[in-house]
Amino acid sequence: MATTTAPETEITMRNRPAAKYVYFFGGGRADGNGKMKDELGGKGAGLAEMTNAGLPVPPGFTIQTEACREYMRHGGISQEVDREMNEALQRLEELQGQGLGKGDNPLLVSVRSGAKFSMPGMMDTILNLGLNDESVEELARRSKNPRFAADSYRRLIQMFGSVVLEIPKSAFDEVFDHKKKQKKAKLDTDLDARALDEVIAEYKKVVRKHAKREFPQDPHEQLVMARDAVFRSWQNERAKHYRRINNISDDLGTAVNVQAMVFGNLGETSGTGVGFTRNPATGAKEFYGEFLMNAQGEDVVAGIRTPVHISELEKIMPQVYNQLREITTRLEKHYRDMQDFEFTIQDGKLYMLQTRNGKRTGRAAVRVAIQMVDEGLITKEEAIFRVEPNQLYDFLVPGLDEKSAKVEVLATGLPASPGAAVGQIVFSADEAVDKAGSGAKKNPVILVRAETTPEDIHGMEVAVGILTSRGGMTSHAAVVTRGMGKCCVAGAGDIEVNEKTREMRVRGQVFTEGDWISLDGTTGRVIKGKLKTLEAKPDDPELLKLMGWAEPFRKLKVRANADIPRDAIQARAFGAEGIGLCRTEHMFFGEKKIPHMRAMILADNEKDRRAALKKLLPMQRADFAGVFEAMDGLPVTIRTLDPPLHEFLPRREELMVDIATLSTVGAAEKKALVAKYKDYGVKGAGDLKKALPALLSRVEQLHEFNPMLGHRGCRLGITYPEITEMQARAIFEAAVTVSRSGVKVHPEVMIPLTSTLKEMANQAEIVHRVAREVFGEKETTVPYLVGTMIELPRAALVADEIAREAQFFSFGTNDLTQTTFGFSRDDVNKVLPTYLAEGILKQDPFAVLDREGVGQLIRMATERGRKTRPDLKVGICGEHGGDPSSVEFCHQVGLNYVSCSPFRVLTARLAAAQAAASDTLKVEGGRTK
Ligand code: PEP
Ligand code: MG
Repeated sequence: MATTTAPETEITMRNRPAAKYVYFFGGGRADGNGKMKDELGGKGAGLAEMTNAGLPVPPGFTIQTEACREYMRHGGISQEVDREMNEALQRLEELQGQGLGKGDNPLLVSVRSGAKFSMPGMMDTILNLGLNDESVEELARRSKNPRFAADSYRRLIQMFGSVVLEIPKSAFDEVFDHKKKQKKAKLDTDLDARALDEVIAEYKKVVRKHAKREFPQDPHEQLVMARDAVFRSWQNERAKHYRRINNISDDLGTAVNVQAMVFGNLGETSGTGVGFTRNPATGAKEFYGEFLMNAQGEDVVAGIRTPVHISELEKIMPQVYNQLREITTRLEKHYRDMQDFEFTIQDGKLYMLQTRNGKRTGRAAVRVAIQMVDEGLITKEEAIFRVEPNQLYDFLVPGLDEKSAKVEVLATGLPASPGAAVGQIVFSADEAVDKAGSGAKKNPVILVRAETTPEDIHGMEVAVGILTSRGGMTSHAAVVTRGMGKCCVAGAGDIEVNEKTREMRVRGQVFTEGDWISLDGTTGRVIKGKLKTLEAKPDDPELLKLMGWAEPFRKLKVRANADIPRDAIQARAFGAEGIGLCRTEHMFFGEKKIPHMRAMILADNEKDRRAALKKLLPMQRADFAGVFEAMDGLPVTIRTLDPPLHEFLPRREELMVDIATLSTVGAAEKKALVAKYKDYGVKGAGDLKKALPALLSRVEQLHEFNPMLGHRGCRLGITYPEITEMQARAIFEAAVTVSRSGVKVHPEVMIPLTSTLKEMANQAEIVHRVAREVFGEKETTVPYLVGTMIELPRAALVADEIAREAQFFSFGTNDLTQTTFGFSRDDVNKVLPTYLAEGILKQDPFAVLDREGVGQLIRMATERGRKTRPDLKVGICGEHGGDPSSVEFCHQVGLNYVSCSPFRVLTARLAAAQAAASDTLKVEGGRTK
């Protein structure tokens, strides 16, 4: 594994780009610049830009992402990369007047990853490279600090061992912990130089044992191996996972930054820290950050020691503090965005190690954008693009309802990511995944850890909230949860987390797995027990201001999927401009309605069925009236019954068991069975023997092998026209009644799952007929439309024909994705993780619209439908209606509206505005060109 340079011929035969591979920065000049993120990655571009701006940046060079892509393609890199790297190394050595790991003043370097998009902690870093048995002696002599030198060397062996040689971290931890015990050391810093020398000797044995080789003493060999390991780390599982959830392409590759080391752990005039030019949680204009004196590199972000607020630096080193403020203010002005920076102070001298646009919460994003417009840094048009549509969810996140239970604050940590979370404690990411469940079996869990690491990402994703006892606002837990828009309390130091015994101790109390706690991510409080949560108000004045700038661009209307008045009211408050999908089946599940619904299904003749439907009619009418009232003046799309009827009946297998055991059970069990089946017409224990087999026989009749492709959608309304009749009557009677009270109603009756013109015509005829009847009876007319969902490929293919009868289309992209791919929407998770991991699919097509396939059908159906009916109203009401990328596509195709769940309305509004604004404004990365 010493060097993985691939044979030159193999790579030169492929189209090698003319571009150079290695970009130097140092001595006040850089080969690259801040615009070259594609090649240099975010970190490399930032280092180049800062160098060019004359800032104090330790010199070095960036090996560009193309080398990583080559590495992925060929398992090695070309000799040209090696050649350019060696040249750059020589330049660095000359500039510094040092040799890598050589001489009496050895050059040491860091080797870090840096992709185009920041992936905090996902890939690997190696510090202190260049140290070996000899240079460590020189370092000790020069720094007059043998402990520091030994500590740097043992860190290198440890990092190199785990990252490059892939030795489990625990092998090194065991050695270190053992040494601490042996020396009765409490803290790492309690181990002296001699003890650390012993650790180094032990570490070398670990390397020998696990890697079957010596720790490389040749600094150049170290560099080549480290570089290749960083390239490989692009492909590690956690990096892949991070890219998947953040929608970053696997093909980009990472750059590698090799940079002269500066030391924050040289003593009390050295330190290291990270910061933001504004508060990343609230957006407040304040200098924000954390640092540790006498510490190195990852100590701050890794959350191992809890750092102190950056304002303390002003007291300790006022000059350095002022210089840092001055530099970071300049950086913010230069980049015209909030900066997230890293710095190191070596012997009282400040060095900038990184700057990049800082990640922030949704609230902070809105506030910073507005402030920057006020400050004249950016334009209003740019401000629209400074907020990710999904981030607006932050404005809708709940708070804790403090009146719902006694509030016993167990501890207060840092308000790392806002919102509230109430859930059951779990102590590991795997447990979180196990306990969180999915679908109807979803369980709220809170992941409690001493600190999180990138390995915990899968658990963090399923947890409703994260609590850590260590680490600051820039710890892994804080940064990642803010990105996820998930509540997090970090660094709650009073809490003692023991991940081995799975216990959390605080204030003399012990909490174990499954205990309930409540987190307030906005104040950092950890509260005992299960509080209720309060809905957030979306009327934040800053949010309204930003939306006021964005909205004039928007062409797509945004509607909501809502079935009950409460949701409709909520959606309207979030800015919904109508209901795009009211799933009427949800209305039948109400307690009073379900017995009649079941009676309707069990009826074996039309008369009985009509009798049951008659009972349902007034209830449906009342439901519809409530929704119409809530949406006064706006269109309401009501879909006729869609799901297969067996969904309203008991499970076949359960029923079989109850029948089989009926003769053996006693009176109490029989009573329970009567209660269980009373909605199916069972009145007493005496009925059970006859009624249950009759029920089973109906369940058998309705049983389908593939219900999603079965007796559902318009097929139900065609085989039982009286259902459509009843629903149409309920819709029009409600519409007429409500309109008489002055409410403006615009019902749009939607027929599901059509695939032929005749299906559509059949159902449209019923709806129009019933409308005429109701309007005649009531002597009042209301405007209405009859349209269809397009959710089968055939419907898209014959959309021109269907449009003869359908006055509007709404793409049911849940079913359309299911039927286009042939993936069962309920079972796809058996396949999807592998497909995503293998890169067969880039994204979950049920979450992000598949533009190439399903999108083509949408485009075609829209065009064909409008050929027949130029004023055809076209929308989308599948889950994709609230996904920003899918919304953008809907805008591009020229749909009239998107419809999504109420909580995504705000997101869809901004996404639609951004999509339209980018037609007229030339925008790149949140900046108008
Ligand atoms: C759809 O299929 O996209 C849709 C909205 O309908 P449902 O999810 O109810 O099948
Ligand atoms: Mg559907």
